[in-house]
Amino acid sequence: NNEKVNGPIAGSVPRGKESGWDDNICYFIKKRLSVWCRLPNGKWDLGKIEETLGDEATISLLSGTVVKVSTAELLPANPDILEGVDDLMQLSYLNEPSVLHNIKHRYAQDLIYSKAGPVLIAVNPFKEIPIYGNEILTSYKQKAKDSPHVYAIADAAYNEMMRDEKNQSIILSGESGAGKTETAKYVMQYLAALGCGNDSMGYEILQTNFILQAFGNAKTSRNNNSSRFGKLIEIHFNASGKIHGAKIQTWFLGICITEPAIDSYGGSFLVFSADRLNLRMASEYKYLNQSECLVVDGVDDGMEFHKLVDALDVVQICKEDQEQAFAMLAAVLWLGNISFQVIDNENHVEVFTNEAVENAARLINCRAQDLMLALSTHKIQAGNDFIAKKLTMQKAIDRRDALAKFIYTRLFEWLVVQINKSVKVGELSTGRSISILDIYGFESFKNNSFEQFCINYANERLQQHFNRHLFKLEQEEYEEDGIDWTKVDFEDNQECLNLFEKKPLGLLSLLDEESNFPNATDLTFTNKLKQYFNDNPCFKGQRGRAFGVCHYAGEVTYDTNGFLEKNRDPMHSEFIHLLSSSGCQLPKSASLSCQSGGLESSMQSVATKLKSQLFKLMHQLEKTTPHFIRCIKPNAKQFPSLYEDDLVSQQLQCCGVLEVVRISRYGYPTRMTHQEFAGRYGFLLKETNLSWDPLRMSVAILKKINFLPDMYEVGYTKVYLRMGQIERLEEQRKQF
Ligand code: ATP
Ligand code: MG
Repeated sequence: NNEKVNGPIAGSVPRGKESGWDDNICYFIKKRLSVWCRLPNGKWDLGKIEETLGDEATISLLSGTVVKVSTAELLPANPDILEGVDDLMQLSYLNEPSVLHNIKHRYAQDLIYSKAGPVLIAVNPFKEIPIYGNEILTSYKQKAKDSPHVYAIADAAYNEMMRDEKNQSIILSGESGAGKTETAKYVMQYLAALGCGNDSMGYEILQTNFILQAFGNAKTSRNNNSSRFGKLIEIHFNASGKIHGAKIQTWFLGICITEPAIDSYGGSFLVFSADRLNLRMASEYKYLNQSECLVVDGVDDGMEFHKLVDALDVVQICKEDQEQAFAMLAAVLWLGNISFQVIDNENHVEVFTNEAVENAARLINCRAQDLMLALSTHKIQAGNDFIAKKLTMQKAIDRRDALAKFIYTRLFEWLVVQINKSVKVGELSTGRSISILDIYGFESFKNNSFEQFCINYANERLQQHFNRHLFKLEQEEYEEDGIDWTKVDFEDNQECLNLFEKKPLGLLSLLDEESNFPNATDLTFTNKLKQYFNDNPCFKGQRGRAFGVCHYAGEVTYDTNGFLEKNRDPMHSEFIHLLSSSGCQLPKSASLSCQSGGLESSMQSVATKLKSQLFKLMHQLEKTTPHFIRCIKPNAKQFPSLYEDDLVSQQLQCCGVLEVVRISRYGYPTRMTHQEFAGRYGFLLKETNLSWDPLRMSVAILKKINFLPDMYEVGYTKVYLRMGQIERLEEQRKQF
């Protein structure tokens, strides 16, 4: 039992589970059982082993084709009766192709939810399926239905909270477009239905979703309605289980807005409404027309805008504030249209005076002159004086985008503060809250930059939380069932987290150090990493500006281009100065929040801020009983009924589903209650004594079939079998 639970990081197959498979191959040949065979193109196909010669096996595939492959490319397949089971844990063989096939089989029948032990897997259908709404909700509430469903998870969380008076959390993860936000909405819908009291608090909380989406979502190539922020919403209940308030926290908006993604979806609502704000068609705004597509199919912007205003009314944001919020959004759009002209041969620039500057300044409520200065110059100290030096073209463009992002981020933060005021919990109850976390999943692209670095670091932290929780559950199950379970040497992803977090020598510390060093470049940073982490097994030095990190989900190569600048995320004093001169409340208060309470945090680098936010989040989550939902995007085109094996397999790896499978059935993949076991295999006992209890029957059966002692365990309530043992019993049953 000293095998590490956390096997080779990059290996996509939970090989640990299949130890003993080699001995089993003969059995599979003899019984003509199905196997999975990895073809040279990397795809898995079902077949039967005809013969083996040394390491080579001859396989006849289902299609009739005969291929020769190495036995290393074979894995056991499950018997047909296990096809499409609700819970992957019911599979006798929990390898990657079996898991993949099971989910696919279900998906084809619109069964988008499956369980992997305690984890809910949700595959995005990209179409409406009739599995939501009051009727279905009620049947889950009344326990008339128990098939895997997001409602069932919400129900479990609610009931555990009411029963144990312990805070709960529902943690959703998955890549962009996988369905996190949508699934979170169903969780909230369920909770609102269970916990609706006399007032409209539940409804109000549902409306907050809509507002944050309107302002914080964007159309990207991967999702028409992509959340550019991470969100934790804490819903509080009173002693009788009714919702009495909520608290919302959001993150990373700054990180997730990458150029050209200030293409706020919210922005496009506006275009259809407020003439007063001097807005044009979306295509006339650079920030909007850089996103490939302006019109989101099936979304009527005018209608959506009215819904948005209604929602803002519900959370009691007054008309005046609403107008200011829209004005700020419009200002951001106009800022994007500001251009510059070169005025000397050193490429210094001036702002081109046009309606874009005029409008932006009017909306921010500052002087156009001041805005132009803030965009085209930077102040440097000369003795006791400050002199304004002109910026070069690229610097000015960066400055303009930084201001847009700054205003946009502050606007969003302001909105969250206003919403929180409205849904505020009067009297805080302890032990009666459910937190829903909707956060970016692990990302691994061809080119990975600072954004992926941050997102993946956050996911590495969440993964540790996930592993530890699952492993704890697993141990508890064994212990409760009275099984001598020598504690498994459980190795989690601490080593990778150390690589990020260790002080003074960790990726984050070194990044900060270099970010503060005036002469440092992305290359000097990379070289430093290579120098310090040469021997670190989680670090892979690569050529040029690249380095690799071995994450729990696989190795990711990061290109450090822009790391230092993005990490600094400079908060130009010019911006604060500019906004504080505004005649309007909103921009003014935004600048104030930066100057006072925010000053310390605004001095922090992005990475440091992220780290401290994450620690706070983890601390908060550790006080809850977690429930996990892993969302899967079945294809990149956002099409219904299309399931791309490779894409799904990669996500199962990234969101740790294969890890769950490995941890959760580590050691004893088959578990049956004594009743089940005795009922199914009792025939093996010739003379059964009717007075025997099921446990005694189980023991007698195990003795009878002559299992080796280390192939099974008998607990108080269940029989635990090692891999492959159940087949021997089933075989006997067939012959009987
Ligand atoms: P991002 O990280 O970019 O915010 P996400 O994981 O939050 O992505 P969603 O916005 O929730 O993804 O989902 C993307 C789209 O997929 C939705 O707009 C919707 O069209 C569709 N979708 C997701 N879940 C479901 C579902 N359960 N039923 C029907 N459609 C769904
Ligand atoms: Mg989302």
